[in-house]
Amino acid sequence: TSTLRDFDPQLADAIKDEVARQEAHIELIASENYASKAVMEAQGTQLTNKYAEGYPGKRYYGGCEFVDVAEQLAIDRACDLFGADYANVQPHSGAQANAAAFMALVKPGDTILGMSLAHGGHLTHGAAPNFSGKHYNAVQYGLNPDTGEIDYEEVERLAREHQPKMIIAGFSAYARVVDWRRFRTIADEIGAWLLVDMAHVAGLVAAGLYPSPLPHAHVVTTTTHKTLRGPRGGLILSAHGDEALYKKLNGAVFPGQQGGPLMHVIAAKAVAFKEAMSQDFVRYQEQVITNARAMAKVFLERGYDVVSKGTDNHLFLVSLIQQGVTGKDADAALGRAHITVNKNTVPNDPQSPFVTSGLRIGTPAATSRGFDENDCEQLAGWICDILDVLAKGEDTGSAEAEVREKVAELCGRHPVYAESAGVRQT
Ligand code: PLP
Repeated sequence: TSTLRDFDPQLADAIKDEVARQEAHIELIASENYASKAVMEAQGTQLTNKYAEGYPGKRYYGGCEFVDVAEQLAIDRACDLFGADYANVQPHSGAQANAAAFMALVKPGDTILGMSLAHGGHLTHGAAPNFSGKHYNAVQYGLNPDTGEIDYEEVERLAREHQPKMIIAGFSAYARVVDWRRFRTIADEIGAWLLVDMAHVAGLVAAGLYPSPLPHAHVVTTTTHKTLRGPRGGLILSAHGDEALYKKLNGAVFPGQQGGPLMHVIAAKAVAFKEAMSQDFVRYQEQVITNARAMAKVFLERGYDVVSKGTDNHLFLVSLIQQGVTGKDADAALGRAHITVNKNTVPNDPQSPFVTSGLRIGTPAATSRGFDENDCEQLAGWICDILDVLAKGEDTGSAEAEVREKVAELCGRHPVYAESAGVRQT
C-alpha cells in the first residue's frame, strides 16, 4: 500500500505518469540521466528532516552526529574520485555552486570572462538575465564559426583587453575537448582566477575519459546529476592547495548563499560518488561516448551538419540551417515520436534563441538504460527520417507514427528501472 497514493491520489497520478513517460520515451537531453535506485533510496530517507547549518564537526545545530558521517563520506569520496584536496558537497544546484564560486573569487562590478550562452556556455557564465550578467561586468567569448571549436585566440584577446578578474571555462553545449591548460595560461598571464564548470562532463572526467580540469583550474564546479548520474545538486572542488581559498569557498556556500544543507541529497551524492569509482561506471561512460559518436556519424552520413564535425564527449549539436528547419519544429516533431531532445542555438544561427536552428543530442540517459551503438545508430536514422520530411516541408504525421512504434519496441527491450536494465543497476 502506498501512503502517498492514499493521501494524495492527484499527485501520485502525476508521478505515475512521469515514471511511465520516462520508460516509454527516449531521453536524449544531454543534461539528463537516470539516477540509480540506491541514489533515490538515500534521497528518500529521514535525512531530509535534519537541519545541519555549518560543516561536519562545526554545526550550528545539535543532533548532527550521523549526518556528519554522511557529509564527510561525500566529501572524502568526491576528493578521491576527482583527485581534489577540497570539496564542498552542499550547493543545492549547479547554479548555486557557481554563485558561491563567484562570491569567493570576485566582487560585484568586477569584470568576468565566460562563454556566451549562444555559443554553448551556461546562463551562470555571464548571461545578461542571470546574476552573473547583472552583478558583474560580463565579457563573453564564443566559437570560431569555421571550426565550431572554442576560439582561444579570441579568449586571449578579450582577456588582454578587458583584464577580467576571473575567466570561466566549461559549457552546456560543446562536443569537443576543452584545452583547460590553455585557459590557465591565459588566466595566469593577466593574473585572473580560472573557474572551470565541468557540469556536463563530470562523469567522463571521473571515469578518466575526458581531461580533468582539476590540475589547471583554481576552482572547479559541477552538477552531480548529468553524466555523473547522481541526485540533482551541485559540488565545488579544488586541488589548488590553498586553505585560505577553501575557507572563502565554504563561507560563500554557507552562510554566503545558503542556509541548511539538504542532507538527504548529500547522502545520495555520497552514493553516486561511490558508484562512480566502479569499473562498471567506466564501462558505462565509454559506451556513452561510443554511442554519441555512432549517432553523430549517422547524421553526417545522412547529410546533416554536425557542429564541429563530430564529438569527443556525450553530446553533439546538429545544425539545421542548410535544411531551413527550425530547432523548435524539429524538437516538437521528435517529441510526438516519443524522442526527447532540445532545440539549441548553433553558430551563425539566423533564428532567435526560442526558435533556433539546431538540436542538442546527448547519450547519457539512453546509455544508462542499456542502449548500445547499434540501438543508437538505428535511433539516429529514425530522427533523420523525421527531419528529412520536415526539410521537404511536408506533413510529418505518418513518419512520426512509424517512429513512435519503433521507439515503443526499443524502450520495451530496455526498461529504465527493471532489474535487468543497463549497466547502471546495482
Ligand atoms: N553549469 C552548467 C555547465 C550547466 O550545463 C548547468 C545546467 O544545465 C548548470 C551549471 C546549472 O545547474 P543547475 O541546473 O543544477 O542549477
